[in-house]
This record gives sequence, structure tokens and C-alpha cells, in this order.
Amino acid sequence: MTTTSTTAPTAAPDAPPAEQAGLFRDLYVDGAWRPGGDGGRFDVLDPADGRPITGFAIATEQDCDDAVAAAAAALPSWSATAPRVRSEILRRAWEILTAESDVLAAIMVRENGKSWADAKAEAGYATEFFRWFAEEAVRIPGDWRLSPAGDKRIVVTHRPIGVALLITPWNFPAAMATRKLAPALAAGCTTVLKPARETPLTAAYLVDVLERAGVPRGVVNLVTPVPTGPAVARMLAADAVRKLSFTGSTEVGRELLKTCADRVVNASMELGGNAPLIVLPGADLDQAVEGAFLAKMRNGGSACTSANRFYVHASLHDEFVSRMVERLEAVRTGPGLDRENTLGALVSTGERDKVARLVDTAVEEGAEVRIGGTPSGEGAFYPPTLLTGVRHGSTVNVTEIFGPVTAVVEFDDVEQAVAQANDSEYGLIAYVFGEERAAMQVATRLDAGMVAVNRGVVSDPAAPFGGTKQSGLGREGASEGILEFLETQYIAVSA
Ligand code: NAD
Repeated sequence: MTTTSTTAPTAAPDAPPAEQAGLFRDLYVDGAWRPGGDGGRFDVLDPADGRPITGFAIATEQDCDDAVAAAAAALPSWSATAPRVRSEILRRAWEILTAESDVLAAIMVRENGKSWADAKAEAGYATEFFRWFAEEAVRIPGDWRLSPAGDKRIVVTHRPIGVALLITPWNFPAAMATRKLAPALAAGCTTVLKPARETPLTAAYLVDVLERAGVPRGVVNLVTPVPTGPAVARMLAADAVRKLSFTGSTEVGRELLKTCADRVVNASMELGGNAPLIVLPGADLDQAVEGAFLAKMRNGGSACTSANRFYVHASLHDEFVSRMVERLEAVRTGPGLDRENTLGALVSTGERDKVARLVDTAVEEGAEVRIGGTPSGEGAFYPPTLLTGVRHGSTVNVTEIFGPVTAVVEFDDVEQAVAQANDSEYGLIAYVFGEERAAMQVATRLDAGMVAVNRGVVSDPAAPFGGTKQSGLGREGASEGILEFLETQYIAVSA
């Protein structure tokens, strides 16, 4: 029997934002906060110094079963709740988060390590999903028309799929959660959220916001099982669960798709990327360097959209490299709570070491380090790094780097650059810089779910986010985002 905690960890807007992180340390099941059934906790670490921030409750099998049961019990009334009512709850969540943006940012800085500017940018992006889907909740499409033979009316409606399991990664702990929670709730689904082990505090804070916004009991549940795999498999085996929305690595996504196959659970997958960035001959270098810097350094390079493979035309290569190096020299690396720092820590020393190994391997394979390349000091920091002389197909070129490392391949022939950009198992996003007509021609030939032309950032709650090939299935955001949580129903009515 699991006990519920007596005090809900409601945000205390008067307390310094950085101290709020430790308030959110319990599971949320059936409208109540509770420690895990066996009282166990895992440490949530501050990547800037490696010290524990707090111990977060470990969800037992029973906690996970209770969460699924609570979501199933809440489904009939939530799915029958008027769209306007669902919409207004989401709108209130947007209002609360807008007012408490510093709290959200500070929690992310503490447990994820990102810079203050990255955390504030994510807070804004994450918050907008609530406003966008508050607006979509009241615009769920349908159709009513006469069949070609004239014998019946074809009525098309959309119904909420049911209980949705939402699994999120650590790199955007707020936005990846709101990008799922907001459309799921707008569609009338009930949810069980399973955040990454590195960043549960952000997820728990978001649940607190939703509770304050008026989300009814059982509609949102939060569990953090350790280990994750068996608990997720168990939840996916539950009859009530009809949807999996996953954001994370391609490796884990593939395994989850296999598990979903057992019960034909509807799955949306936002997976890894290895984004090419092409600088065409004739590109405006000011624009290209600014865009390339953003595409690489946003979120310290820990982004599925991060530009990884830089293909730069020989005519611009040297100038591009020297300007990028200048731009990277101006980056200030250090803990995110110091708002002057523009590059924070990676999420863990393990991630930092992975990036360091990748750079060492690149050098062994012939690349030259033009800046950075050696981690120093305490914490999970890795310096901004630029490599030239990288070969297409080398280890750093085929691996999702997930850190502040720019790896430049020089090219002579545009056809070859397009072929190399497409030569990847991933297809999430690509970037092209060049004279507009030439850039658009290249953009339409790139096998990617998203292409940025002469800009370094594409993410927008109003735009469909998602990839081709092994970068995923489905789209988040835009009007497509809510359809991922709806089933199409056709009703035939005699004319
Ligand atoms: P990850 O795949 O290791 O973990 C993602 C989530 O899955 C976490 O909640 C984790 O606890 C859970 N998980 C891990 N093993 C599991 C298992 N066996 N069964 C069920 N769940 C399991 O990814 P990560 O390291 O947290 O995040 C980085 C990855 O996420 C990168 O590959 C990045 O490209 C990708 N990502 C993709 C998008 C996108 O929208 N396409 C956005 C952000 C991150």
C-alpha cells in the first residue's frame, strides 16, 4: 500500500528560483503526490559540480500500475469534457508558466546544467505549447459529406486515442514534456509521464503547474521507475495504454517499437538526428556564421536538431572557419546560474567523456583541432570545439555528437555535398546557407523532415516537428501534433 504525501510541493514564487528545484521530489499518481511504494530514492545531480540536488522517488511496479489505472479511470470524464474547458485549463498552465518562467529556467539549469540563456529560451518554447494546444483543442477537425454514389453521408470524427504513455529525454526536459502533454490533454487523452532519470525535477514542477491550472485527478500522472526498461514494458503491456509518445535515442526507440508491436500500440517517435549544414558557394558569410553558430551551440549542442556535419564549399571554407573560431572564442563556459556564462555543462561527466572520446577519435582519424578539444576543471563542462579536415564517413561525421563540437568537411561539388548530406540513417533536420534560389533548390532535395534555409533555428510550436528515416515517426506541434493523440472514426449514415 502506497502512502500519499501530506503536502503538495507547490512552487513558492517568492523563494529564489534556484532553491525551488529541491521541492519537487515525489511521484504524482491519481491527483496526489507520493513517495515511491518502497521509499527508495535516486539522486538528482547538479552537472555543474556533480553534487546531489535532492533524492527523487523511485516508482515501484505498483506505482506504475496505479498511474495507469488512474489514467484509465479518468479517461471517460476527461475525454467527455468540453473542448473549451480543456482549452482553458491549458491556457491557465500557459499563464502560470509565463509568470514563473524564472522558476522553470532555474530548475532546468540546476538539474540539466544548461546555460541561463538556453534555459530561458527553452522555458519560453515549452510554455508556448500550452497556448498553442489550448487553441487547437477547440479546432479538432471533422467532415460531413455525401458519398460519390449518393447512398450515404460520410461523417468523419476524431476521438481521443485513450491513455497515453509519454517518455521524454533529459536534453529539453520541459519542452519535450509540454510538446506531448499539451496535445494529449487537448485531444482528451489521459497521461502517464515518464521523464528521464537525469531531469525528473522539471517534469514534477510541470505537473505541479498543471495541477494548479485545474487538471482533474488522474488525467496527468508522473512516474520515475528505476530501472526504466521493465517498467515501461509493463505499462505498455497494460490493456488500458493505447498510445506511446517517445522522444529519445533511435536505439531505445527501436526497442520500444518492438514492444509496441505486441499489442499494436500506436507510437509516435521523435528520435536521434545527425543534422547536415551546407554552406553553398555564394552564401552570405555573416548569415552563415551566425546561423551555424546558433544551429551548433543552441543548448550547448545537446539537441537532436544540433548541426553536426558541416559541409562548407572550398571557396568559403577558410573564411568560414576563421569567423566561426572567432565566434566560439567569445563563448563563456561555466555554471548556468551565473547568467553571464553562455555555455553550460553537459548533463553528466559520462556525456562529457563521450564527447571527449569522439574528438580524440576524430583527431586520430586525421581531423585538426582549431579551438577547444580538451575538457578542463570540475563539472561536466566541455569547451566549444571546432575541427577541420573531417572526412565524410569518419566516426565524428556519422555519430550524433550531442556537444559543442563543430566538425567541418570541405567540398567542391554541390551535387556531392547533397549526396553526402543525405547519406545518413537519420533525417531529422538539415540546414542550408546560400543565395535563396540555390538554397531552396538544395532544400527540396534533402531527405529530412525539416530544413532551415539561411537560419539556425526552426523549432516553433506552430510548425510540424519530426524526422524521416530513423529519426522518427509522426510529428509534434502544429495541427499535426494533436492528430497524433486522436483516432479517426468514420460513421456511415444512410442518406
Ligand atoms: P534515451 O533514449 O537514452 O532516453 C530517453 C528516455 O527513454 C528517457 O526517459 C529514458 O529514461 C527512457 N529509456 C531509456 N531506456 C529505456 C528503455 N529500455 N525502455 C523505455 N524507456 C527507456 O535518450 P536521452 O539520452 O535521454 O536523450 C538524447 C536522445 O534523444 C538523442 O538521441 C536525441 O537526438 C534524442 N532527442 C530527439 C528529439 C526529437 O524531437 N527528435 C528531441 C530531443 C532529444
